[in-house]
Amino acid sequence: MVTEEDKIFAKNFNIDQLPDVPAGLPPHLKLKQSRVVPKNVAPLNTDSAIYSGGYVTTGGEESVKVESFYENFKVDVISCTETDIEFDMVGIDSSFANAFRRILIAEVPSMAIEKVLIANNTSLVIDEVLAHRIGLIPIAVDPRLFEYLSENDQPNEKNTIVFKLHVKCPKGESRLKVLTSELQWLPNGSEFLKEAKGSNAKPKTYTSFSCSQDSLPEFADNPITLSHLDILIAKLSPGQEIELEAHAVKGIGKTHAKWSPVGTAWYRMLPEVVLKGEVEDELAERLVKACPQKVFDIEDMGNGGKRATVAQPRKCTLCKECVRDDELVDFVDLRSVKDHFIYNIESTGSLPPDVLFTEAVKILENKCERVLAALS
Ligand code: SF4
Repeated sequence: MVTEEDKIFAKNFNIDQLPDVPAGLPPHLKLKQSRVVPKNVAPLNTDSAIYSGGYVTTGGEESVKVESFYENFKVDVISCTETDIEFDMVGIDSSFANAFRRILIAEVPSMAIEKVLIANNTSLVIDEVLAHRIGLIPIAVDPRLFEYLSENDQPNEKNTIVFKLHVKCPKGESRLKVLTSELQWLPNGSEFLKEAKGSNAKPKTYTSFSCSQDSLPEFADNPITLSHLDILIAKLSPGQEIELEAHAVKGIGKTHAKWSPVGTAWYRMLPEVVLKGEVEDELAERLVKACPQKVFDIEDMGNGGKRATVAQPRKCTLCKECVRDDELVDFVDLRSVKDHFIYNIESTGSLPPDVLFTEAVKILENKCERVLAALS
């Protein structure tokens, strides 16, 4: 017969809390769960760190718990400039690290030139190629200050930026380089006139700005410019001329790479280099010499003895040169930490790289909220 005492015992029963059952995973499984091992044929243990599935029944699947995530997750910024950032993201699954990378490349918006109206082009660069080159020029402007231009919208000061380029190489002079510095922002919008439909109709331009963009508080002291003023657009021979207008709108990299706000965004798992035994004297020197990244160093043991140490494991590129040596292979273990990512973002100049990352996080958050709303 089940007593009240038995019921309370059953309710509070937790196998992990019994004194003779070890908590968590045994070391060899913990290693398998948390490290990728590079091998010649293919890396081992590449399954997810967050949900390895096979470890749940052992009670070792800690990372699934929200509390452990809060406890373990951290971000350390290693270096940050206006265009580049390197930071460590620790305690997160590769699926999230990769989601941020993909969102950065394809879903964080930026402004890029979508329409090029060519009034005159006598250069050797044909119109289509010229327009394509101009489309890829990064613009140093915060895309959050603009709206998307949809098919039925009129280009206005809130959704379009207009640049003008008018360069001529005078006859008798040497060839002229046309650089991005020649593109001039038109805060009042397009200056090109459309053909008037009736003889009395007032000619219109290609945009409908209700005010000058430089009168808006966000641009009054912060004129719109290009990220790099020294990109070569074309070369003009004497007598050649280019006159055009370039209209930039807001978009995302998924539509076209020109809207990607990053040159690149990439990550690698933190490499781990472990010496399994003492590597001494001549063997130590061989090990140091074998590594092109200078991961190892020599420690002086006194009495002329030398010992190899792992000095800069972070620099390891897992090239496996050190384990190609028949003798050294028994002393070196190479691994990657599954939930520690060395993240690099290079901004094209629209937003600083740290802001781009926070924008990517917001986009993922919005997606999650949409899924939750759809499920509730
Ligand atoms: S894998 Fe390559 S970079 Fe890494 S420690 Fe070995 S030799 Fe050096």
